Amino acid sequence: MQSIQDVLAAAEVVPPLGWATAAAVALLLGWALGRATRRPVRTGPSRPEEAQISVLRDLKASVARLEAENSALQSFFLLLPDFTKEINSHMERRAIAPLVMKVTERLFAPTQMLLFLLDDRINTLFMVQQKGLAEDVKIGFQVKIGEGRIGWVAQHKVAMDVNDFIREMRQSGVSLDVPAHFRFQTELCAPMVHEGRALGVISVGGITRHYKYEKTMLSMIGDLGSIALYNNFLFSRVQEAANQDGLTGLYNKRFFLERLSVEILKAEQGHYPVSLFIFDLDHFKHYNDTQGHQGGDEVLKTTGQILRDSVRPDDTAARYGGEEFIVILPQSPKDGAMVAAERIREKVASHPYPNRESQPLKTVSLSGGVATFPDDGRTSSDLIAAADAALYRAKQAGRNRVFRSEPKYFSDGTEEAYYNTSNG
Ligand code: GH3
Ligand code: MG
Ligand code: MG
Repeated sequence: MQSIQDVLAAAEVVPPLGWATAAAVALLLGWALGRATRRPVRTGPSRPEEAQISVLRDLKASVARLEAENSALQSFFLLLPDFTKEINSHMERRAIAPLVMKVTERLFAPTQMLLFLLDDRINTLFMVQQKGLAEDVKIGFQVKIGEGRIGWVAQHKVAMDVNDFIREMRQSGVSLDVPAHFRFQTELCAPMVHEGRALGVISVGGITRHYKYEKTMLSMIGDLGSIALYNNFLFSRVQEAANQDGLTGLYNKRFFLERLSVEILKAEQGHYPVSLFIFDLDHFKHYNDTQGHQGGDEVLKTTGQILRDSVRPDDTAARYGGEEFIVILPQSPKDGAMVAAERIREKVASHPYPNRESQPLKTVSLSGGVATFPDDGRTSSDLIAAADAALYRAKQAGRNRVFRSEPKYFSDGTEEAYYNTSNG
């Protein structure tokens, strides 16, 4: 028998929750009674009461089914606002996938769930979350776009259930069987689509709560997840641009100062040193004057690259001003920082910058200063001033060298601050 949902779906009408049952009853009643009265009288039981009883029985069954569908839809729509709010309040990418998993779990109560996200540089999906998988299938498991059921969904950007997969296999002849070792049932699978691109795939197996519109429901969750992923991507791009120096791609002064405060705080709490290396290119005005401003810009870019290649992942390298650069070296005592600084100085002095021989020192070089928390300064500005004072002495001493700051305080635990008047 044709249900009211089918009638409405055919007319592309989505029934809202509250009145759906009432409307269904009214429509069904009208349709059923009309049908009962139109029914031609043939052989067999012909009493009108019998026909009406059978109609009422059908009607009751339809209403029960509609009510079940309604309550399923209702619970889904009740979940949505909280999910949407929560997922969009997270600016951290790694918080998004667990939220998508959580809402999927609440809806379908499945025994297995997988969430893959796309790495678009290599067109590959990476599993970032899982529930109920075989032990040997680990987070980071990769699936190429187009490969298997997950890859198929990412490629075609449509939600699929078991029957859809079987139909697709029959029609295309391509095997979409789940490999046996995977021991995973992809009963329901939806892409996470944003602006025509699948940013990920959700796959659900061992579903204990089925819904008539389950493909649409999972797709909606996926799409909300992908919007959050895209927002996160935009946010991090804006943030990166705000922290970056446009010419060298290094961090800018604003970001550097923020980071230095954080590193000093961490060093204070963890009782370890943090060093600063500041340097300034020698006779840079001369380079600009002889090679042109654009040539000077190229030197700054190359120096930025040398610096980036020379520091550890935990270090923060920034362009502090025109031709001044600065590096935070967390957990580095002064001797270690001096070794790192010397290495950078040598790399710059030996780099074949164009026409470097026309410089007064016959090369492009730097003068630098190193200062260390807590001995040379206990605040950001004290530490920068100490490193800068050492840099100034390096310039005075003839350039192309790195000097260490003279300690202002001792960090041996005696609280007696010792001020070295020769410093700065
Ligand atoms: P010193 O060895 O004492 O540091 O000499 P210097 O010539 O490097 O020092 P000075 O401060 O006199 O000159 C710095 C020069 O850096 C002046 C300025 O034109 C140049 N400069 C600053 N920012 C930029 C930039 O973004 N691009 C280029 N090409 N030059 C810059
Ligand atoms: Mg200079
Ligand atoms: Mg300068």
